[in-house]
Amino acid sequence: MSVAVLKRAVVAPKRSRLSKLGLLLVALFAGILAVTGCTTGSSGSSLNPINPANRPTTITGYTNGQLPSSQLYVVNSNCTLYRPTVDSYEAMIAAARSAGVQLSAAECYRDYSGQVYERNYWCKLGICANAAVPGYSNHGWGKAVDLRDQNGSLTFTSIGYKWMVAHAGQYGWNHPGGVNEAWHWEWVGDGGTMHGYAVRPDLMNWNP
Ligand SMILES: [Zn+2]
Repeated sequence: MSVAVLKRAVVAPKRSRLSKLGLLLVALFAGILAVTGCTTGSSGSSLNPINPANRPTTITGYTNGQLPSSQLYVVNSNCTLYRPTVDSYEAMIAAARSAGVQLSAAECYRDYSGQVYERNYWCKLGICANAAVPGYSNHGWGKAVDLRDQNGSLTFTSIGYKWMVAHAGQYGWNHPGGVNEAWHWEWVGDGGTMHGYAVRPDLMNWNP
């Protein structure tokens, strides 16, 4: 697949130490709510970073795994994403970096043949569930990313996973339920199938 690489400036949000403390407290509160299950999936709260039932929406008029380059943006050689996800993705990566967490993508958009390859790979290992049935992967919508941190692919105990649990919801990214892959995160910045998140407006306005 050949997609032109577009250049753009990423403006990292400036925050005072006070607001950072505020964000930390919000994140801690959100974590407590998530653990205790005090929030409901349809609350629309941006304080719940993981909403297991929320999943990305499909893209009307297009076919999973067959998105044209007009709908995609090449972040780097490892990561191509559905364009509306890019602002929130890059803002999230920048925020993690400033907190000492070196998040990066191992893979993002996966075309149909890539999905077939991935499914075969995992099924041969006896873990078919680690890859969607081809044509149904959220990687095929360019709305899923497999993340690494400075220690490698995310695990459920890694620094990168913990940072994502605390912060990803602010950027419209979610870890789905029933997916035994700590590295797999999905964009629900448009609310997802449950219309669940109120994402910062400046992360939804990117027009290349
Ligand atoms: Zn994945």
